[in-house]
This record gives sequence, structure tokens and C-alpha cells, in this order.
Amino acid sequence: MANKGNNPLQGYLRSPKLYILLPSGGKFSNIESISDISQELPIYPLTSMDETLLRNPDALLNGESMASVITSCTGIKNAYELTANDVDVILLAIRYATYGNELEISTSCTECSATVEDTVDIEPILESIEVLDDEYKVTLDNKLQCWLKPYTFRDSQKAALSAFRETSELNTLINAEADDMSKLITFNKSFQAMADLNIEILSNAVVKVVIPATEDAEEIEVTNSNHIEEWVRGISKQQADVIIDELNVINELGIQREVKLTCEKCTSTFSTKIEFNPSNFFDLTF
Ligand SMILES: [Zn+2]
Repeated sequence: MANKGNNPLQGYLRSPKLYILLPSGGKFSNIESISDISQELPIYPLTSMDETLLRNPDALLNGESMASVITSCTGIKNAYELTANDVDVILLAIRYATYGNELEISTSCTECSATVEDTVDIEPILESIEVLDDEYKVTLDNKLQCWLKPYTFRDSQKAALSAFRETSELNTLINAEADDMSKLITFNKSFQAMADLNIEILSNAVVKVVIPATEDAEEIEVTNSNHIEEWVRGISKQQADVIIDELNVINELGIQREVKLTCEKCTSTFSTKIEFNPSNFFDLTF
């Protein structure tokens, strides 16, 4: 193994803490090295360099630090092409590899609103990983069948960034010393940009649309991404909602996200969802 010229310190680098199966199992992904994600994936703990990267708010926001941290801790080169489901699982596994089994959770009691703090074990959650189905589809009110896939990390990151920008732009706008008309124009512009992005992300998640056969015509399968985007732009809000609702379910498949907590104050037991994001998993004091 030790070739001439190899670093003698090579054997002293950090080693994988665990191996996991990813929910996508390599499906729905454009990753070239598909074997990387279709078999057990080694998970390495964060390096101190990774931790520093995660503390850069800008890079964290646009996904750059997450992408390079994923590469550092798994060896996967093109993290942006992973499904959002895979990225969630990888983040939790990195958290486990770096800081151990316990994850602190803090939320409000659903009954009495008291703050409930508890610690959950990550191990059983990682053991709950399930491989996604080969295909997901919804049938719309006009009988069209729409085949869907989970968001890529790139698209889920774009959506999060856009929502963040929207909020901060809105806040700036509200506090700005501009007249109402110019505020309204700025508001509409940024709203349009957000709407366009949502169309793009939604279209990317549509694998194909099938127009069912009728008495006079055979079934037609549409896979052309431009045709799909044009179609998404023109569908009714109700149809879009059917697709979005299904995508919201698909994007969370693959791992158990709910945990049961008990409130010490009123003793009621309730379920809450673990937030799968770096600020919840890593100690990011900016
Ligand atoms: Zn309570």
C-alpha cells in the first residue's frame, strides 16, 4: 500500500466512524460515481477545517460549506447532485461521527407551551434508514400522471437561500425610507424572482408526465425538460399543490424524523420533528 512518495503520515489520518446506506441507494441521482452512494458509505468525523468552514455564515447559506464538508466526510465529489434525503442522513451521520450518540432537542410543549429539552439517541435513527422506492407518481384531476423525484441538494439549497433572501429583503424594504409605490415595485420584482425559482425547482423534480391513452390516441410520455417546465408554469394552483404536497412527503422519506418527548411540567407526551440542518447538528456560534 505504501508507494514510494506517499506521505508516511497517511496511515495516521482520521478513519471512518461508521458506514451507512443512503436512502436513495443511488436512484434519482446524476452523480457519476454512483457506486459511491449505492453501497455502504464511510462517514468520517469533521476535521477542524470543516468546523471552521461551517462557521462561515455566507458559505453555509449558499450550501458551499455543506458541500465541501460532505466531500471531506464521505469522499463524495459532487454533493450538490445528491438527493436532499441523502444529505439529511449524511449530516446526521457526520454529527454522530464527530460528537457521539446524543442529540439535544429543545422545543415547546404542544399542550402548555413550556420549553421541553431532551436528549435523543442518534444511533436508532440511523438504523431506521429505508431505501426509497424506484418511482413516485401522482395522478392529477385531468388524469395526467406526474412522476416525481426528491429534490437535489442543489435545489433544496436554492429554495432555502431564496426564502432567506426574501425575508431579509422584505425586512429591509419595510424599514426603508422609500415611498409606498417604489416599495411595491421592489416587492413585486423580488416576488417574481421567487416565483420563477419555485417553478424551476418544481420542474426539476418532475421526471416525466404521462398523458393517458384515449379511444383515438395512444399514451404520450413527456420527458423533455423544457416542455415540462412550460407545463408546470401553466398548471392550476390546485394541481401544483397536489405535486408540492407529494414532494414534501418524498423529500422527508428515508429516515425517521419524529421523536417522542414528554413535558416535565404538564406530563403530556407529544411528537416533534428533528430539524435536519447544520445549525441544529453542529455547534455553530458565529
Ligand atoms: Zn407541557
